Amino acid sequence: MGWSLRIGRIAGTDIGLHITFLLFLAWIGLADYLVGGTAAAVDAVVFIMLVFLCVTLHEFGHIAMARRFGIKTPTVVLTPIGGIASLERMPDRPGQELLVAIAGPLVNVVIALLLMAGFGLSLSGVLTVDLEQASLAERLLLVNVTLVAFNLIPAFPMDGGRVLRALLAMKLGAQRATSLAAKIGQGFAALFVLLGLFFSPILVLIGVFIYFAAAAEAQSAAFTGFAAKLTVRDAMEPAAIILDESQPLSAAIDALLASPQTEFPVLGTNGRARGLLDRDAMILALREHGEATPISSAMRPAQPLLLAQPLAEAFNSMRSRGANAEVVVDGNGQVVGVLSSGNIAEMMLVNSVRPGWRFRRR
Ligand code: ZN
Repeated sequence: MGWSLRIGRIAGTDIGLHITFLLFLAWIGLADYLVGGTAAAVDAVVFIMLVFLCVTLHEFGHIAMARRFGIKTPTVVLTPIGGIASLERMPDRPGQELLVAIAGPLVNVVIALLLMAGFGLSLSGVLTVDLEQASLAERLLLVNVTLVAFNLIPAFPMDGGRVLRALLAMKLGAQRATSLAAKIGQGFAALFVLLGLFFSPILVLIGVFIYFAAAAEAQSAAFTGFAAKLTVRDAMEPAAIILDESQPLSAAIDALLASPQTEFPVLGTNGRARGLLDRDAMILALREHGEATPISSAMRPAQPLLLAQPLAEAFNSMRSRGANAEVVVDGNGQVVGVLSSGNIAEMMLVNSVRPGWRFRRR
């Protein structure tokens, strides 16, 4: 996840701090310093470290439950809304997803019960306590109660929202459940922003965070659902013009101007795919090196995709390399076309108005 600092590793899981979590901590520390001076700031720092520990334990509740279903968790990132454990994959069964989602808040329930038993506290006593006079144990109990209550709000992708999605998925299937849960999540996000404007800037931050996280989840679920049964063959465009790496750049410019094609596979001397040359790279090379420069010095090396490769896998490999397009080859290694993110975007547009459109090609 971007905008986070790695601070350690436990049982195969990297722990990161999201920048907004640090802002949240800094805001609390500064507020206490301004009100009560150094002693109050030290007290606040100790308190914050313990809050941080409760949030981390909450995340490891999710992680431990996921591991029971054979799912590893490479990273966990702590944010003001309680942290995001990036599981390798989501459990296939809604029942398992529900258990993974609920395991985090359950850890805070256990911590709260231990604090109540250990320090002789009661829930009703803590909810009405004067915060100025509250002991550390009382404040920690309040934090854990708040963590449970806040995380159980059904604002996807918070825990309560994941529980909601799992319940919806039992009735509606994964894709529709995610889209519905994401819309509900964005509704809550808008509400948080509105309430936050009057009561707390942190709530505004949380609302914005949830809004974009819900949108990202909905988009990725839509792509996975739509790409599930498709291969590279279904989404690629046949390459009408194929260039040769020994040709000068001027030949590529001529091809660009004479056709609607903007991405050109480039063959090596052995007739195999060597690279891909797109319009932007052509123009850049024309400006820097002139039209006589060989195509081989302007192209990007190819990492050919196979016709029969699953579309989601091919797209993820393109995206992880920051490539917008890639050469496609058949089983014999012959270049047959180009897969571009532009074409996939067009397919998703069609899919959004006509779900179930026949994208499969023979
Ligand atoms: Zn959680």
